[in-house]
Amino acid sequence: MMDKGFNFKNSYIDLPDIFYTLVSPSKVPDPKLVILNNKLIEELGLKLDELQCEDGLAILSGNKAPKGAVTLAQAYAGHQFGNFTMLGDGRAILLGEHVTDEGNRFDIQLKGSGRTPYSRGGDGKASLGPMIREYIISEAMNGIGIPTVRSLSVVTTGEEVYRETRLPGAVLTRVASSHIRVGTFQYARGLNDIQDLKALADYTLERHYKDGIKEKNPYVYLLKEVIKKQATLISKWQLVGFIHGVMNTDNMTISGETIDYGPCAFMDTYNPETVFSSIDKYGRYSYENQPSMAEWDLARFAETLLPLLHDDMNEAIKIAQEAVSEFHNLYTKQWLSGMRKKLGLFNEEEADKNLIEGLLTIMKKYSADYTNTFRALTINKYEDTEIIDKEDFNQWINLWKERQSRQDEKEEAVLNLMKNNNPAVIPRNHRVEEALDYAVNKGDYSVLEKLLEVLSEPYSYSKEQEEYRAVKTKVNYRTFCGT
Ligand code: AMP
Ligand code: MG
Repeated sequence: MMDKGFNFKNSYIDLPDIFYTLVSPSKVPDPKLVILNNKLIEELGLKLDELQCEDGLAILSGNKAPKGAVTLAQAYAGHQFGNFTMLGDGRAILLGEHVTDEGNRFDIQLKGSGRTPYSRGGDGKASLGPMIREYIISEAMNGIGIPTVRSLSVVTTGEEVYRETRLPGAVLTRVASSHIRVGTFQYARGLNDIQDLKALADYTLERHYKDGIKEKNPYVYLLKEVIKKQATLISKWQLVGFIHGVMNTDNMTISGETIDYGPCAFMDTYNPETVFSSIDKYGRYSYENQPSMAEWDLARFAETLLPLLHDDMNEAIKIAQEAVSEFHNLYTKQWLSGMRKKLGLFNEEEADKNLIEGLLTIMKKYSADYTNTFRALTINKYEDTEIIDKEDFNQWINLWKERQSRQDEKEEAVLNLMKNNNPAVIPRNHRVEEALDYAVNKGDYSVLEKLLEVLSEPYSYSKEQEEYRAVKTKVNYRTFCGT
């Protein structure tokens, strides 16, 4: 049953009923295409020409379910800023799991397609600006090489949604290796039925961590692997200055992909205390807190698994604590290794950590731009930094050059390593705002398309990327949850 190239095999419905509710997307009056991800369509083996036509838009707007789809909303819970709440897909509906010719399975989900039993007071809808924003940032993250959910399309619905003002409604089609969250496990554990919890854990192993099934205790394996995946993910965020903004447990995936692009943004000026989200009043999810907050979320995940880790609760707690305490080491190791690459270092020396911290201290002291400083170091254009005339920066460069001389690799290899680890462009906040303004207020998608193109290959150091490195941070730039 192929429709537009979709090959739906729906496994989530085999979980106990409590994990989802079958529900159809709401009909919308006048779907119009804003953006379609041609490359992703190709990667998934979908049919571009068919998705572009009226019938395709009907699917991407929720007006028509493609053949083979069994549409549903997933149940989950979560700690939001530390408080436990029952949640679930309140404005997202899963169309189904698309299985590619290579056998890879992807959730295809509509976001903003109307109310579900988990909507609580919300309307289940989304407005155009936040959906384009998610599209831009998620695709930029993918370009950088950070595990993330992807964006397939944005369509406007032809109806208005009511927020502080009236805004054009839109539906984003999101692609993920799954939408199983730490919050899904919290939901299962909260139900107090060990069989349901086990069903979810077994399903997750089968879908994401198959190698664990043959282990003596597959659930210990699951816990450790998720911790590893998250340590990798968070180190990648830190290395490029990505601030997620709302690292609640419902926004942490078991697959290790970045999800929930609400109030996220990239840091311009290097300052570990940076927070963009308007609702994060106490800086819980600031840049510097991200690793420890991830560890906190993973501790909540470990708690959900306790009954499966060992028959003896004390033993189970010991296993969980040991696994979670590994996060810090795993994270630090990968961060350090990533930083070495950013500085063109192939071998390891004990003092590298000091060298790295020396640079960060200088960047903080002079409010240097994080991305542009590494870019300038990469291409030897120190004049492109705002700290070129600072004595301590120049001293640091000498130390760094000396350090580089203590390795065998030639200049060209160093340049390549640095180019491949220091994005020349990131989605600068003012550029994202500009693209949104043109798209939402003027109906002009060309600025958006150009931005997406530039962001798709951040390591190319192309001529056209030059103008996108300019910084224009509004004082106290604020982001909002895209409801
Ligand atoms: P988020 O802040 O996007 O992580 O969402 C937190 C919870 O609120 C999730 O259960 C969402 O599905 C739900 N939610 C967010 N926006 C809406 C909306 N407009 N209508 C219904 N539910 C929503
Ligand atoms: Mg969420």
